[in-house]
Amino acid sequence: MTKDLEKIAKDKGIKYFLVSWVDLFGVLRAKLAPARAIKSMQKNGAGFAGFAAWLDMTPAHPDLFGVPDPDSLIQLPWNPEIGWVASDLWMDGKEVEASPRVALKRQLARAMKKGYRMKTGVECEFHLITPDGTQLADSADTQSKPCYDQQALMRQYPVIGQICDAMLELGWNPYQNDHEDANGQFEMNWDYDDALKTADRHVFFKYMVRTIAENSGMRATFMPKPFSHLTGNGCHAHVSIWDKTGKKNLFATTKKDRRGLGLSPLAYQFLGGIMHSAHDLAAIFNPTVNSYKRINAPRTLSGATWAPNAVTYSGNNRSHMVRIPADGRFELRLMDGAVNPYLLQAGILAAGLDGVENNRDPGDPLHINMYEEGHKVKNANKLPSNLLDALRQLDKNKVLRAGLGDELIDAYVKLKMEDWNSYANHLSDWERANTLDC
Ligand SMILES: [Mg+2]
Repeated sequence: MTKDLEKIAKDKGIKYFLVSWVDLFGVLRAKLAPARAIKSMQKNGAGFAGFAAWLDMTPAHPDLFGVPDPDSLIQLPWNPEIGWVASDLWMDGKEVEASPRVALKRQLARAMKKGYRMKTGVECEFHLITPDGTQLADSADTQSKPCYDQQALMRQYPVIGQICDAMLELGWNPYQNDHEDANGQFEMNWDYDDALKTADRHVFFKYMVRTIAENSGMRATFMPKPFSHLTGNGCHAHVSIWDKTGKKNLFATTKKDRRGLGLSPLAYQFLGGIMHSAHDLAAIFNPTVNSYKRINAPRTLSGATWAPNAVTYSGNNRSHMVRIPADGRFELRLMDGAVNPYLLQAGILAAGLDGVENNRDPGDPLHINMYEEGHKVKNANKLPSNLLDALRQLDKNKVLRAGLGDELIDAYVKLKMEDWNSYANHLSDWERANTLDC
């Protein structure tokens, strides 16, 4: 039975609802609705003008409605009189195909028809910086190898502890928090779950981290490469496919094949699909101009970028795009902090299901250090070097068009091309310095 948000508001003391959704660029939009209005919004949605967000719509389009999904309700731990709900976008009585949460739900339904349920965990790295965005929040965080630095981690305990407390209260089962490989960089991990739940939590996590950082006089950024000499913000995902009940991991096997890794034939097919489309998925997984300063990046201060530069996979080896850290799952390390949380999951599933449907073979794993020996691999598909190349590839990709729909790909490519053009038309300091005396 559908949960009644009006009744839940009365029972839990919720005064306002944030009826929330994410546009194609991953921007979180919302209306703050008093609880008295939620009954009709649960039925008819909250009204928005689509052109005002990053969706391919004009001012002439009719009202866009965000219909809240009551299963996504999160009562803000730091302000329990507010309830956050993720919504699905509707227009003219139909779901908006070119919207991220709807796109993910379609992929999940496509998987469910085959008896598959995708479970994922995401690792959202972020930096704590000053409110003006120019420097690290902690000026004492200067080690050249700062990963797991206890002193720097604990100087930010007031923020990290509060975020972890919130996740504990929300029942996300957080299990570790650490200082990551860049100065000022952190990662907080919670349990993997069904892909839609993970995507909603990913959206909320970014909102929560930003809010708690702001309340502490700082700013949190998930920008892929906020500082050129430091490791960037990745958003790795651990992926597995389960049966319909969610009890049996279909990627797990007790039999090791010639590749010596604990993955089932289904997992290799799914991985084959990811490898087949990864290059063209970069436009979705690495969606900003800045993203391409993280992948293919030169060595950072700490000694490694931890980001991939080619479409390769390995065992428990972090220098490749795909790592298989344990039996029954793989880690995809391509995505960065700017990735749209729903399109991350939808992209993985669209590519993976294509792999299963077409019995795609990922080939053999490579057991080398890609950062040192990558140049020796002759047939590895290099990742795109900028957003323009990535968008052109995505535009041409038949698998992703078939999976995610022409409407979504067309809208995404069109808006992102405008983004690229805005960047390309901007006269930079670098150009001036290197061209004035031409
Ligand atoms: Mg990490």
